[in-house]
Amino acid sequence: MSIDPNGDVTIQGVSLRSLPKVSLHDHLDGALRPATIIELADAAGIELPETNASKLGAWFRSQSDSGSLVKYLKTFDVSISVMQTAAALTRVSREFVQDLAADGVIYGEVRWAPEQHLAGGLTLEQTVEAVQQGIEEGEEAADRDGHSIRVGQLITAMRHTDRSLEIAELAVAFRGRGAVGFDIAGPEDGFPASNHRAAFDYLADNFFPVTVHAGEAAGPDSIRSALIDGRALRLGHGVRIAEDLQVVTEEGDEVQVQFGDLARWVRDREIPLELSPSSNLQTGAIAAWGKTLADHPFDLLYQLGFSVTVNVDNRTMSGTSLTRELALLVEAFEYDLDDLEAFQFNAASAAFLPVEEREELVEMIAEGFDI
Ligand SMILES: [Zn+2]
Repeated sequence: MSIDPNGDVTIQGVSLRSLPKVSLHDHLDGALRPATIIELADAAGIELPETNASKLGAWFRSQSDSGSLVKYLKTFDVSISVMQTAAALTRVSREFVQDLAADGVIYGEVRWAPEQHLAGGLTLEQTVEAVQQGIEEGEEAADRDGHSIRVGQLITAMRHTDRSLEIAELAVAFRGRGAVGFDIAGPEDGFPASNHRAAFDYLADNFFPVTVHAGEAAGPDSIRSALIDGRALRLGHGVRIAEDLQVVTEEGDEVQVQFGDLARWVRDREIPLELSPSSNLQTGAIAAWGKTLADHPFDLLYQLGFSVTVNVDNRTMSGTSLTRELALLVEAFEYDLDDLEAFQFNAASAAFLPVEEREELVEMIAEGFDI
């Protein structure tokens, strides 16, 4: 098999892009179309590092290849700078949904941090409303094109600021009006989830679903804090849970592994890992294992029975799509359609939706993969 220039691949005679998929870890400010950034920057009088869409796309990709999470996060200053009005937020959210639909995604969760979109004078509530407006326009536009898609918002607080309780209250206030969950993002190392205990207590009191970026730029201790302080139902990446595993012997396909208590808990409780292959490579999250995708502990975690899901993290920064991430895994680990279907079942089961709706997604996936 080979990945075509659009990032698609034909596997067992089927286009991967055409198959139903679920996208759980997908940042709004990491998914802007370069052409849209240029138009919005032009209108707002903002200077960009490149003014041609393909060159700007290439700039994002090269900045993101630095191997440092901090440098990678700097590219967001550019995308966030053009997302400071209600109209801009609505437009990028609409395009976010349309791009997912065109990639075969049937359900997505978009995460973004309202506190980063107040420079133009919007209130926190207005930012959430503007994004919701765009999501609904995108769902309707996709519907008209014959793609059925639904997208929920994950309201994100930043680890290095102190507004998490306010953001948690915002998320709960928008339950039933677009918000399906809460997340914390930003620099992980040095900013533990325990700093946000009040926000997590509030969310737990309100039975509001939480995912936490953890096990990306920091190791098992950060995952422990996400689970204990954050009561996280999913782990944003969580890839460094593999540091709590010790490979004892490896003979061909037979791997003997010793589990730490934390890894055993995450595996046995089926706490979903929002793994993002390209991003994990670019941010150095898998540096302990190697420098290529084939070194990613994705396959080890999958074979050991962890609930692995495949994600894009930031489509613009990594120049990727969910189809392309799956194709890269097929290339690295020779997965077949049954494996890819298993990842989609895991993601559907992990969605922050009522159980009936998750079951519907599972049915749609089973139907789509039944070829
Ligand atoms: Zn992320």
